[in-house]
Parts: sequence; C-alpha cells; structure tokens
Amino acid sequence: MAVADPMCLFCRIVAGQLPADRVYEDDEVMAFKDIHPQAPFHCLIIPKAHVATLNDFSPEQSALIGRLLLTAKRIAGEHGLPGYRVAMNVNREGGQVVFHAHLHVLGGRPLKGALG
Ligand code: 5GP
Ligand code: ZN
Repeated sequence: MAVADPMCLFCRIVAGQLPADRVYEDDEVMAFKDIHPQAPFHCLIIPKAHVATLNDFSPEQSALIGRLLLTAKRIAGEHGLPGYRVAMNVNREGGQVVFHAHLHVLGGRPLKGALG
C-alpha cells in the first residue's frame, strides 16, 4: 500500500498542496468539509495514508477503520448533530468518484429518503 499517491486529490489535501476546510486531524485521520455539501453539514473523513477503496483495507487496518468511524461520532458531537448519516461509496458502481477511501458525514437537517 502506498502511503501517498501524488496523483490523488485527497493525498494532496493531506500534504497541504490543496486547500481544504479542515474539521479534524490526528496522526492517522483527517476530516474536511465536502466541497459540494449535500446537507447543511457534510464532511469527509479519510485515512491520511492512501487507501483507494474499502476493498483495499487489510485486516491489519481494522483499527484504522474503527478510528474513521469514531471520528464521525466525535465530529457529530463537536458540531452538535443530534443525528447524522455516515456513508462510504465503494467503486464506481457504488458511486465512488474520488479513489481515496472516505466516509461521508451528513447532518444538520432531518435525513430521510432512499440511500440508493
Ligand atoms: P464519492 O462520490 O467519491 O464518495 O465522494 C467524493 C466527494 O468528494 C464528493 O462529495 C465531492 O463533492 C467531494 N470532493 C471532490 N473534490 C473535492 C475537493 O477538491 N475538495 C473537497 N473538500 N471535496 C471534494
Ligand atoms: Zn490518496
């Protein structure tokens, strides 16, 4: 697994080469506002290391997946979201456009409707 892919949009955000509205960062995880928000609150949570899709995480990275999810909880708490939605698109057929794995966190209004 490459730690950073110079061609990857989100790796470039991690490296500070592209701007982003950061909402959280630690040694392994970063979160920033989605550039085209689909709810009043919409951020993306990513591993700092380049992992293309959920399918590319290894069993040894199980704790990292847990950290991504717990970061969603943390951010929701810090932003006063009483409820929120966490989603991850996997591969083109799953709606993934940026191939650096990310969780979407959406909230700020009552969420309903079909996911697919
Ligand atoms: P996907 O469809 O891959 O799950 O979601 C990619 C998300 O990344 C989209 O919601 C899109 O609006 C967001 N996005 C694409 N390019 C950028 C960017 O340069 N900066 C930020 N902050 N978000 C981006
Ligand atoms: Zn990347």
